[in-house]
This record gives sequence, C-alpha cells and structure tokens, in this order.
Amino acid sequence: MFWISLLVFVVGTCIGSFLNVAIFRTHEGESMVTGRSKCRSCEFPIGVHDLVPVLSYLRLRGRCRSCKSVISWQYPAVEIVTGFLFVLCYLIVATQGADNLGLLFMMMYVLRYWVFVAYLVIIFVYDLRHMLIIDRFTIPAMIFAVIMNLWLGTVPAWSVLVGGLVLASFFWVQFLVSRGTWVGGGDIRMGALIGFMLGLEHGLVALFIAYVLGAIVGVAMMTSGKATRKTPVPFGSFLAVATVVVLFVGQPLIDWYLGLFL
Ligand SMILES: [Zn+2]
Repeated sequence: MFWISLLVFVVGTCIGSFLNVAIFRTHEGESMVTGRSKCRSCEFPIGVHDLVPVLSYLRLRGRCRSCKSVISWQYPAVEIVTGFLFVLCYLIVATQGADNLGLLFMMMYVLRYWVFVAYLVIIFVYDLRHMLIIDRFTIPAMIFAVIMNLWLGTVPAWSVLVGGLVLASFFWVQFLVSRGTWVGGGDIRMGALIGFMLGLEHGLVALFIAYVLGAIVGVAMMTSGKATRKTPVPFGSFLAVATVVVLFVGQPLIDWYLGLFL
C-alpha cells in the first residue's frame, strides 16, 4: 500500500500541476491545450525538464531560469496539496472494505473522489485569487457529480437532487433578497454543486462548516488588522474546503457531533 500511495502522490502532483495551468490560463483567457508554458514575467518558454512538479521549483529555488523573477509559491503548494488529497482519496477507498467491490468499481470510486477534489482545489484557488466562482468549473463538476453519484449509488438519488436544489435555493434566496450584493450567481451554482456531490444531509453539514470556518478566519483577520468588515470574502474557497472535509470525514463528524448530545 505504501508504494501505491507514493505513486498516487506523484500522479496527484502532476494533476496539481495541470490544475495550476487551468487556473492561470482560464484567467488569462488562453487555451488549455495548445501553447507552451512560459514564464509569466519574461515569456521565456519553460523546458520539459523544468516542468517536473515540486522538484523543478525546488531546483530553480523558486525563480525563473531565464529572468530570475520569483515564481508564485502557488505552483508547488497546489501540486503538494493535490498530491496529499489524492493519497487520502485512495486510502479511504482502499480501507473501506474495497475487497468486495471488484477492481473496476474500486477504481471508479477513487476516480469519483479524485475528480471531486480536483474541481474543489481549482474552485478554492480561483476564488481566493480572483473572488470568482466560474461556470467553466462548476458546471462540468455538477454534471460529473450527478452522473457518478447516481451510477455508483454513493449518495441516494433523491438526496443528490434535493440536496442540489436546497443548497442552490439557500444562496438564490440571499441573491434575491440582497439584489445580488451578498452573494453572486457563482455561489448559487456552487450550492448546487455541493448538494450534487454530497447529497442533502452532508451538503448542509458542509454549508455549516463553511460558515464556521469563514467566521473563524474573518475574526482572526479582523483582530490582526489584516481585514475590516468591508473586506470581500472569498466564500467559495471556504465552501470548497468544507466540502473536501465532509467528503473525507462527513459521517464520523456527524456521529461525533450527535454523540455530544446523546
Ligand atoms: Zn522569466
């Protein structure tokens, strides 16, 4: 299991590297498949040997080979985090009695986790950088989530559909009441996505966790003088983190919480 985990980690960092490309090129309006990677500052084309996830960044000491300008630490950070999350996904499926699943279904379960996590990482980083949750990521993620959950039966069908509807409505009502000043259209789609991925019950837990996280970070930023009440909040990033948390430990978390009162 160790060697598979290591392999999964390496694959995860490569996917993370691709997610970085997706994030930057989407923002710049560039094509995702054509065109070579180049330095963001001097446009120097990056050779294949400098595209190795994490290791290239370390060897270049975080600077461009040509102009020595600083490369964003976002690149290795996203690669490492994606690698770790991919390993977690694999371990969860491998340890949850996957023996009786059969290899094909086990791979489908892992794939479901990986794709969910990949989209959530993109949404997290993109909202953090640009304060936007864009349809280019949420819509395909929604379609994938509905198909996978219905096909694998990981979440009951009614829960997937009602979850998407309820969580989208939660933001939609805020959108109507505030005339689009509290939340944007992206939040409504994000709500639907969370419901489709997690189902109604776990989706609501994710929503709750996102607000708790947002409150903690908000208070911390305000007391340290880094933010004021007026500072815009990348709430999509909190929602993405909360969704990953519930995806991994949703049921244990609910059991623990209920255990406090019973
Ligand atoms: Zn450069």
